[in-house]
Amino acid sequence: MIAVRGYEGRRVGVLGLGRSGLAAARALRAGEAKPVLWDDGEAARAAAEAEGFAVEDLTREKPWADIPLLVVSPGVPHLPPAAHPAIRAAWAAGALVDNDVSLFFRAVQMTGARVRIVAVTGSNGKSTTTALIDHVLGAAGRPRQMGGNIGRGVLDLDPPADGETIVLELSSYQTDLARTLAPDVAVFLNLSPDHLDRHGGLGGYFAAKRRLFELGAPEALVIGVDDDFGRFLAAATDDPSEDGARLTRVSAGAKLKGPGRAIFMNRNHLTEWDGAKQAAAFDLREAKALPGAHNHQNACAAWAALRALGLGPKAIEAGMRSFPGLPHRLELVGEAKGVRFVNDSKATNADAAEKALLTYERIRWIAGGVPKEGGIAPLAPHFPRVAKAYLIGEAAPAFAETLGGHPHALCGDLAAALALAAAEAEPGDVVLLSPACASFDQFRDFEARGDAFREAARRIVEGGA
Ligand code: ADP
Repeated sequence: MIAVRGYEGRRVGVLGLGRSGLAAARALRAGEAKPVLWDDGEAARAAAEAEGFAVEDLTREKPWADIPLLVVSPGVPHLPPAAHPAIRAAWAAGALVDNDVSLFFRAVQMTGARVRIVAVTGSNGKSTTTALIDHVLGAAGRPRQMGGNIGRGVLDLDPPADGETIVLELSSYQTDLARTLAPDVAVFLNLSPDHLDRHGGLGGYFAAKRRLFELGAPEALVIGVDDDFGRFLAAATDDPSEDGARLTRVSAGAKLKGPGRAIFMNRNHLTEWDGAKQAAAFDLREAKALPGAHNHQNACAAWAALRALGLGPKAIEAGMRSFPGLPHRLELVGEAKGVRFVNDSKATNADAAEKALLTYERIRWIAGGVPKEGGIAPLAPHFPRVAKAYLIGEAAPAFAETLGGHPHALCGDLAAALALAAAEAEPGDVVLLSPACASFDQFRDFEARGDAFREAARRIVEGGA
C-alpha cells in the first residue's frame, strides 16, 4: 500500500466504498489522516465500519465544517447536473474534490523515488496495452508494477522503488476527476462514443481523456491516430523538444507520413519510423496473442511507450513474442485437427464482436445472451466470413432473424452450441465464442461464460487430439 501524506490529523471524505474507495481510505489512514466514509449502500457502510472506519452521511451539510477534501470513487456520477449529493455538499462547503489516481501521483512525488509512470487511456484496448507493456518490461528484466483499472488499485501498489516503472490503465472517469495527473509517458489509443452520457456528450468525454496529455507535461506522448479524435489530439499537441521527439503517432490502419516519430503497420509488420528513416520492423504474426488489426493498434502503442522507456527493438520483440494475452479476449484455448477454439467472451457488444469477426477467415460463430440495442445488424458485412452461427440465450431468435438465410442453428445454451460447432468444423475453421451480448441470462458474468467455454473446448481438444 502507498500511504497518502499531507492530511495528518485532518478529516478527509471518501465517497463510494468499492475496491478503490476502501483502498483510498486505508492509504489515508496509513498517512495519519482521519478518513470519513460514505456510500449509498448499507452493506458497504457496514463493511467499512467493521474495518474500524468512521462513517458519516456526507450528503448532509454538517460533516463538512472541517473536511477540506473529498475523494470520489470512479463509479460515482460527478458532473452537474447529475452529481452525487455528497459531491454537491462538498462543493457548497468549498472542499476540493479529487480521486485516488490523483492522490497516487502526489504520494509518489512526495516519496522522491525515481520512478517512471506510464498511463494508458482510450476507449478500447487499454487492458491489453497495459498488460503488454508490463509483460515486455518484465521479460526484459526491468522492475515494474502494474495497476489502476487492471490488477491492483493505484493506492494498493507497493511503495515506489528507485528505478521502477509503474504501468497504469486509467479510465476516462479516473482522468476526469483527478486534480493531479503526472505520467512520464501518456498513451491515448482511440476514442469511440461510449459512456457519453456520464461525460456530458462526446466533447466532455474527449476532454476527460485529453487532460492526461495536458496536466503534468509528460515527457513522451503516444497517440493513436486511427480516428479523428486522436488526429486532433496529435495536431494540437505542443512539442517543446526541438527535434519533435516527444510525440509518437501510432496507426494500425495507415502508413503515416510527415516529420517526427511514427509506429504503424505495413502489411503484417509493425514498423518504426523516425522522420523519413525506418528504424525497426517486426512481423507481428510472431506475437501469437495479438491477432487482428485492433491488437496491432495496441501493439504499436505499446511499442512506442516501451521505446520511450529506453528499451531496444530486440527486447521488445522478444517480449511481444512471449506475451500470453489476456483471458477472454481472442484467447486461443486450443487446437485439434486444424480447428482453433477461441474464447472472446469479453465481447459483450457488437463493436467488440466485430473485431473478432475481422480477425479470422472461416468462423463457426457462437453468439447470443442478453441482447443489446441494435443487435448484430451492424455486423452483416462480415457474415460472409461466418461459415455458420450457433445461437444461444435470449438473443437467439432476434439474431436468427438478422442472419436470415445465412447458415445458423438455434442451440439453446453454450454447451450445445460448442458441441455442434466442434462437430461441424472443418480444418482451418475457428470456433469462436464472441457473443455480442451480456451474459446474465446464463452466467454470472463474462468471465464465468469464458471459463465454461475454455473448459469445454479443452475437453474437446484433448479428446480429439
Ligand atoms: P479495455 O481495457 O479498454 O476495455 P481490452 O484490452 O480489455 O480493452 O479489450 C476489450 C475488447 O475491446 C477486446 O476484446 C476487443 O474486442 C476490443 N479491443 C481491444 N483493443 C482494441 C482496439 N485497439 N481498438 C478497438 N477495439 C479493441
